[in-house]
Amino acid sequence: MGYLELDLNLTDEQKAIRDLSRKFAMQTIRPAGIELDRLADPADVIAKGSALWDVMRKFRALDLHRMAIPKALGGLADENDPLSSVLMTEELSYGDVGVAAALLISNFTFTFAAMCDDEEIQGWATDYCEDTEGKVLGCWAITEPDHGSDWWFGAEPAFTNPKCAPSLRAVRKGDEYILNGQKSAWVSNGTVATHALLNVSLDPSKGMQGTGIALLPLNLSGVSRGKPLNKLGMRALNQGEIIFEDVRIPKNYMVVEDHAMATTMIEATLNYGNMGMGMVFTGLAQAAFDEAVTYAKQRVQGGAPIFEHKNIKLKLFNMFTLVESSRAYLRRIATYNAANVPMGSTLHARSIKVFSTEVALKVASEAVQIFGGNGLSKEYLIEKLFRDARAGTIADGDNEALALVGASHL
Ligand SMILES: Cc1cc2nc3c(=O)[nH]c(=O)nc-3n(C[C@H](O)[C@H](O)[C@H](O)COP(=O)(O)OP(=O)(O)OC[C@H]3O[C@@H](n4cnc5c(N)ncnc54)[C@H](O)[C@@H]3O)c2cc1C
Repeated sequence: MGYLELDLNLTDEQKAIRDLSRKFAMQTIRPAGIELDRLADPADVIAKGSALWDVMRKFRALDLHRMAIPKALGGLADENDPLSSVLMTEELSYGDVGVAAALLISNFTFTFAAMCDDEEIQGWATDYCEDTEGKVLGCWAITEPDHGSDWWFGAEPAFTNPKCAPSLRAVRKGDEYILNGQKSAWVSNGTVATHALLNVSLDPSKGMQGTGIALLPLNLSGVSRGKPLNKLGMRALNQGEIIFEDVRIPKNYMVVEDHAMATTMIEATLNYGNMGMGMVFTGLAQAAFDEAVTYAKQRVQGGAPIFEHKNIKLKLFNMFTLVESSRAYLRRIATYNAANVPMGSTLHARSIKVFSTEVALKVASEAVQIFGGNGLSKEYLIEKLFRDARAGTIADGDNEALALVGASHL
């Protein structure tokens, strides 16, 4: 349905990207997301010929995957235009948040690669830009079976406790590092990614403050994957474990060796991810709201469309206000943080992630209520949107953990 664009300063280029993304979302992403969500076995989501690969190819054909990579490496990034990526992501996510997350996490990995000084690693960003098949895919592997929220509290003094050290160890041997350990089944794109941004323990005696960050291809000897994860919502998003057994990487793949810098970079990376989640779940909230308005105008009870009943009107008005607030706040903080790289405002990044995902969950839940029994039926999109929204308050940092970390910046 679209929304009334309140941002009067959008350029023609920004409007063109928004409109192109909206068309792609409705023609390709939405139908693919519905089809993938219905697959009982998550292995089928990534099977040859699945709708996911069609989306991956078309995303690249539209050049949208190159938006955040610098021009020198084959991308289209314009550092004076932080809003285009926000507009694109809101729209793609309006189509389907699981599919959109798969696309964006890949973008993120190669955007990080582009920021590294190493020529070989920058070359992976170029490979990504030039990929037309949707075969070059990234992931961010940080969560471990025994360390989820621990990563976000890592900068706190208590987290020097060796008992809290990440289990994925990287040990330096000459010009190489040897990796042993595993990342959890929650790694997005985990069973299909070709490259990973990987957070590791370098010095377990320093707990969560003895970490480093590697970037590596995942076709190395000793890397194996778990089974695709079967879950409640965002089912179009492939997730799965990555296991490392005596994986040897050259020293230059350990792009952050300094522990203090690694802790800072985790915060900066989370800032980026949290804003991404803000974009994704603002898109979902808009989709749930639109479904509710359309349904309320069609469903007749008490001799009139339920839209005419005051309780439904009040619900819709409150939902509208929440969605608009989420979008306005998101665009404001995204613009500010893009102008203040690499950290931006951590407080605002945590806040928009928490706010937008709570809004999405609230709006989707209210929409289910407006649908009545039909809201629980798989015949209606809102049932899926509600399940998808549930994932938002946990993905990319559980909201309570993020709020606690964010509050320390007040
Ligand atoms: C859709 C989705 C996508 C994801 N994508 C990725 C990805 O791409 N890469 C990746 O590595 N991970 C990914 N994750 C994992 C995600 O980051 C973690 O699930 C999240 O950080 C929470 O960790 P956990 O699940 O281990 O929960 P836990 O850390 O076990 O938390 C459980 C509960 O305990 C509370 N809690 C935990 N620690 C504390 C504390 N110290 N103080 C107070 N309360 C605490 C939390 O608030 C929460 O309520 C994804 C998750 C989802 C749902």
